[in-house]
Amino acid sequence: MTPDPSRAPGIGGPIDPGALRADCARCAGLCCVVPAFSRSSDFAIDKPAGRPCPNLQRDCRCGIHSELEERGFHGCTVFDCLGAGQKIVQTVFAGRDWHDDPDAAAQMFAVFPVMRRLHELLWHVAEALALDLPTALRADLDLAATRIDALTRQTPEAIADVRPDDEFQAVNPLLQRASEHARSGARGADRRGAQLMGARLRGADLRGSSLRGARLVGADLRGADLRLADLTGADLRGADLRGADLSTALFLCQSQLDAARGDTSTHIPAGRVPPARWTRPAVAVRVDPPRRRRR
Ligand code: SF4
Ligand code: SF4
Repeated sequence: MTPDPSRAPGIGGPIDPGALRADCARCAGLCCVVPAFSRSSDFAIDKPAGRPCPNLQRDCRCGIHSELEERGFHGCTVFDCLGAGQKIVQTVFAGRDWHDDPDAAAQMFAVFPVMRRLHELLWHVAEALALDLPTALRADLDLAATRIDALTRQTPEAIADVRPDDEFQAVNPLLQRASEHARSGARGADRRGAQLMGARLRGADLRGSSLRGARLVGADLRGADLRLADLTGADLRGADLRGADLSTALFLCQSQLDAARGDTSTHIPAGRVPPARWTRPAVAVRVDPPRRRRR
């Protein structure tokens, strides 16, 4: 294994946010090859798993990047590997290219979904560590980060054997404690897993609420106050966030924003960027599962 200089693991060591952001120039188009696509409002074509998308060029760039929406590949605009792609290519496989290395290709493709999930978990731990937490909880999260990071730096065979769901289960209590601590002064409602598809929540006071895993597909959240709301895994596809305040929302990732509607009046947390289409008029609302991004 080649050490990744972008990350300095160790007990108590910080998680480098840069290592949790996709760096497509250091990858090999893995998200354009590994998953299967089903023809839908998110993908204009069917594609079997492990076969390159026909729009993927030999240099691993997308040949239709500037017109993904118009060409029916909305799903590509909302996927985020959270740095898993370049970790696989640069760290686990030391820069090998799947194009001319069939053995490496099979292993890379097996590792990708596991690495993606482990990076998702690392991202959540990093978000928790950014909160003002008691020392003991912070130490437990540091240990978790070190352990997960170590899992991502094993041999390809060992990574493919990791069961990410087990890792999520192990770390989830720490994330919940971090969330509860951060929200302790806000007294929000517990709406974990709530079925709120299409709900009329315009102007709602959702401060400090737990909306973990809530289904908010197509919900009207215009002007809602979501400060300190825990949005872990909340499904925001097509939710209308215009005028909503998510400036201090917890565990709100970029792909959740990318899947929602919003505009320049939407307040988002530091470190996220407003999706480009939020500043363009009249975009279609899509509700198929968010899948993938290629730059
Ligand atoms: S988004 Fe896709 S191409 Fe970019 S780094 Fe991730 S897996 Fe690789
Ligand atoms: S970004 Fe989407 S359309 Fe472009 S090559 Fe990748 S999978 Fe194909």
